[in-house]
Amino acid sequence: MVSAGQPAQVVGRFAPSPTGPLHFGSLLAALGSYLLARVAGGRWLLRVEDLDPPRVVPGAAEEILRLLERLGFAWDGEVVYQSRRSARYQQLVEQLCEQRQVFDCSCSRREILLSAPHPGEEGPVYPGTCRLGPVGRRSERAIRLLVADEEIAYTDGVFGPQRQNLMQAIGDFVLRRADGLFAYQLAVVVDDIDAGVTQVVRGADLLSSTPRQIYLYRCLQQPLPDYYHLPLVLGADQEKLSKRHGPSALITQQNSSLAIWQALRFLGQPVPDELRRASGRELLSWGELNFDHTRISTRAQLAPGL
Ligand code: GLU
Repeated sequence: MVSAGQPAQVVGRFAPSPTGPLHFGSLLAALGSYLLARVAGGRWLLRVEDLDPPRVVPGAAEEILRLLERLGFAWDGEVVYQSRRSARYQQLVEQLCEQRQVFDCSCSRREILLSAPHPGEEGPVYPGTCRLGPVGRRSERAIRLLVADEEIAYTDGVFGPQRQNLMQAIGDFVLRRADGLFAYQLAVVVDDIDAGVTQVVRGADLLSSTPRQIYLYRCLQQPLPDYYHLPLVLGADQEKLSKRHGPSALITQQNSSLAIWQALRFLGQPVPDELRRASGRELLSWGELNFDHTRISTRAQLAPGL
């Protein structure tokens, strides 16, 4: 229990989706979240976001954890797996149902994409079709959260003031898909609340998901974490780095310590040249003493040639 006047302990987390091996973008999120928590003397948690079975690559989660461990990242407590938490997500959906903040939706339009975390995959704004009751004949129903026609404003620790009108930009969004899977937006908020996370550090591709998550915190009457979004990593084609870009930006045991040095530079940190060949552990120790989030730029940058 934190006594009055004493600041609450910082709790950060890294939440990789095990859809493939670690790449430079996910290493940045791991490093940024780790160092921001540790410079504040805080805890750092690990959560595997294996919510969506078809996207999970067998063995990827274990591989990511092993590599992080070898690099010297030490997490606090047990790793949390989203695939084991469905009962908890259901409980919160029921709570929101009792609060009359959700409704059943029988629309078939790309609801799976609508529940996806990444922009560009989010599809059209939901026009409120089933707000007064499902209109379609389909028996499978998604559950959507009713959003208000108001602006959600917050200040990101890197990108500064942000605002979005959810109703105009997104519409009522999916919490449980018609196939029964829970949406990323719900799971991430419930998990962060349950783990006492106070600081969310992740890639800028999730900036546009943050207003939805803030809205959910409000519906669940929970205090908000602080948000820090890290600059996007681009492939040679100037597109966000992803599996599509092949193996060049993947982090392997051979290039992994150098990748930490490069990630520190990518985040604007003046890590000395002499540490280029240092071990992951040494680089993390340097970061624990010197990391300064105000040096992080918002500019998307090319992945370093690993
Ligand atoms: N699992 C998400 C990803 O790998 C990150 C979610 C988050 O940090 O909120 O993109």
